[in-house]
Amino acid sequence: MIVMTPHATEAEIEAVRTRLATTGVHVVVMPGELTTAIGAIGDPAGVAELGLEGMSGVDRVVPISRPYKLASSELYHEGPTILDIAGRSVGGGDTFCLIAGPCTVETREQTLDVARAVKAAGASMLRGGAFKPRTSPFAFKGLGVAGLEILAEAREQTGLPVVTELLDSQHADAIARHADVVQIGARNMQNYALLEVAGKLGKPVLLKRGLSSSLDELLQAADYILKEGNEDVILCERGIRTFETATRFTLDLSAVPYLKLHTHLPVIVDPSHASSDRRLVEPLSRAAAAVGADGIIVEVHQDPEHALCDGPQALFASDFLAYVEHVAEHAALAGKTIA
Ligand code: PEP
Ligand code: MN
Repeated sequence: MIVMTPHATEAEIEAVRTRLATTGVHVVVMPGELTTAIGAIGDPAGVAELGLEGMSGVDRVVPISRPYKLASSELYHEGPTILDIAGRSVGGGDTFCLIAGPCTVETREQTLDVARAVKAAGASMLRGGAFKPRTSPFAFKGLGVAGLEILAEAREQTGLPVVTELLDSQHADAIARHADVVQIGARNMQNYALLEVAGKLGKPVLLKRGLSSSLDELLQAADYILKEGNEDVILCERGIRTFETATRFTLDLSAVPYLKLHTHLPVIVDPSHASSDRRLVEPLSRAAAAVGADGIIVEVHQDPEHALCDGPQALFASDFLAYVEHVAEHAALAGKTIA
C-alpha cells in the first residue's frame, strides 16, 4: 500500500501508478478525503525493489503481506507440518517431543550414561554438541567428528535419534552422516549461506531463534531452508536479549502462540539456554508445554558440576524422571502426549 502526501498532484499519483504497473502487480488507486492511497496487489518483493519511498508525492509504503512466504500458514499450507523422525512425530498437536542430553559430548562414558538416563525417563531424542559455538574462543569447542561418532554409538545403544549442531559448512558431510536432526544454533540463524547448506542435507533442521532476532526474521530464516526443498523444519524459541539481566536471556513464551498462528512449522522451546539456571528450567518447561509448544530441548548431565560447558543450567540426570513426569502433566493440558 502506497500512501501519498496530502498535497500529491495527479501527475505524481499517475507516476507511481505507472511505475507499479511495470512490475505486473494489480494497481488500485483509492482517493480519500485528505490523501490518496494506492494498493499494489501481487508480488511484494518486486514492489519493495522499486524504491517508491523516494518518489515525489509519496509519504510512505506500508507492506500489508508478511515478509516470509514458505513458512507462512496463510500462503503455503493447508494444515500443520508434522515431521516423522525415526517414528517420532513432531508437530501437529497430539505429540510432545522431548529432546534431552548434554550440552556437549565430552567423553564416550558421559554421553552414553546421559543417553541411557534420558531414554529410560522417556525422552524422544538425544541432543549433544560435537561442534560448539562458544562465546570465548579459548573455551572448549567440542570433540568434533569424534563427538559425532560417540553420538552415533549412543543412538545405536538407545535407539534415540540424535540432534546435533551444524556450526560450519565445512562440517556438513560429517553432520549429514551422523545426525538425525541438524541443529542451527542461535548465533547462526542469520548465516544465510549455512541455512542453504543445511536445507540441502536431506535431514530435518532444528532452527534456533537468534539472540536478538524478531519472529519475522526467524520465519524468513526458515524460508531459506524451505526454499531448498526441505520441508522438515522445527523452530526453537531459546530466549532473547532484553534489558533484564537476572537470567542470561529472556524466554519469550509469547513466541509459541504467535508462531502457531503464523506458521505451519512445529515450535519447540529451549528452557536451558534461555535461563542458564537449572532451578528455572522445570517451571519454564511446564510453561512452554502449557502454552502449546510442540516440544522441549533441554540439557541434562550426570555430573553437571563438572560439565565442560553449561553445567549450571543442566538438569541432574538423577532428577530427570521426575522432571519428565511434571512436564508431561502440563503437555497433557494442551492435549499432547510425550512421544
Ligand atoms: C545449544 O543448543 O547447544 C546451543 C549452543 O544453543 P543456542 O544456539 O541456542 O545458544
Ligand atoms: Mn549448551
